[in-house]
This record gives sequence, C-alpha cells and structure tokens, in this order.
Amino acid sequence: MIGVGFPDILWPVLVFLGVEKAEINPDSPLQKDVRFKSYPYSHSLVVSFIISCIVGLVIASFINPITGAVFVIASISHWFLDAVVHLKDLPITGFRNGRKVGLELWNRPRMTFVIEFIFYALVVLLVIPKAYILPLLVLGTAGHLLNASSVFGFTKSDPFKSIKPYAIFCIIGFVMFSLIANYVLENYSS
Ligand SMILES: [Zn+2]
Repeated sequence: MIGVGFPDILWPVLVFLGVEKAEINPDSPLQKDVRFKSYPYSHSLVVSFIISCIVGLVIASFINPITGAVFVIASISHWFLDAVVHLKDLPITGFRNGRKVGLELWNRPRMTFVIEFIFYALVVLLVIPKAYILPLLVLGTAGHLLNASSVFGFTKSDPFKSIKPYAIFCIIGFVMFSLIANYVLENYSS
C-alpha cells in the first residue's frame, strides 16, 4: 500500500512545502480540473524512480531486500497507472521543459468510474487471499462511491478552496483507507 501510494504520499508533502506546484479550480470539484503545474520529484518517471530507489535501499537495509524491491516496483507502477488517467501533465524525465504525457481518461467520467473500479476489483480478486476478498470489495466500493463527485461533479464548486487543504485531505484519505483496509484484513475475513 505504501509502495503504490508513495508518489501520492510524497506529493502533498512537497506541495505543502511549496516545492511542487498545483492549483485547484474553485468552480469545479472534478479531478481533471486540478492543474498539476510542476511535480517532477513525486510524479516523473525518471526522478521519481531515482527517489523510490533511494527509499527502497533504506527499506532493504532496515527491513529486508525483498521488501525494498517490492516497494520500488510498486512505487514506479504508480506512474504507469497515473499515465492512463492524467491529462498530459505527467513528466517523463522531470527536467524543466521535458515531455509530458497522459492518456486523459479523466476526460471521460463514466469510463473513468467503471475502469478504475474494475481495475481495483480485478487486483483484489487476483492477488488477495480468498477470505479477504469480500470485505475488501465492500471497502473499495465504499471508497469509490465516496470519491464519485471528483469524477461526475455533484457539487458546483470544489469543497477545497485552495491546494493546501486538498493536499492534506489526500494524505488523510490515503492513510485512512490503508488503516481501514488493515483493520478489515485483521478482523473481517469471511
Ligand atoms: Zn499520483
């Protein structure tokens, strides 16, 4: 969880410190209307990979090499999945004026909603032990529905008036989902 989410854990911290730049559109709650102006450290293929390798090495030396390797692979997979949904704002090298990519699935709300859920459900079905599948599908469905306004736009304005509260919410959301998933795994196997 920490590995696949690492770029999105690093991003709010760097936005908060003013190192990376993004803006929300106060008149739209849609995810596609968040402008990711500069995020080379958390979300470029090359620089993010280097950073996750450094963190992976630390994990490898403190925990074990396999955990470190899994962290790096999970972390870099984030870029490829983000490349499917993001508008053309994902940097490849992370250097100034470098090429940016994105297949722009966020421009198709219904498809985004369906494909993201199918992807989550498929991963759960393929990699999670049988006993935990049902509770994690329920949790994922709840999380997906809670996030639906960022795809369909149920409100006329963004509930966050600036990027910093949005960044804090991102971290809290991710940590909450991880903690609840962990709780479910420990208590609700069927
Ligand atoms: Zn991301």
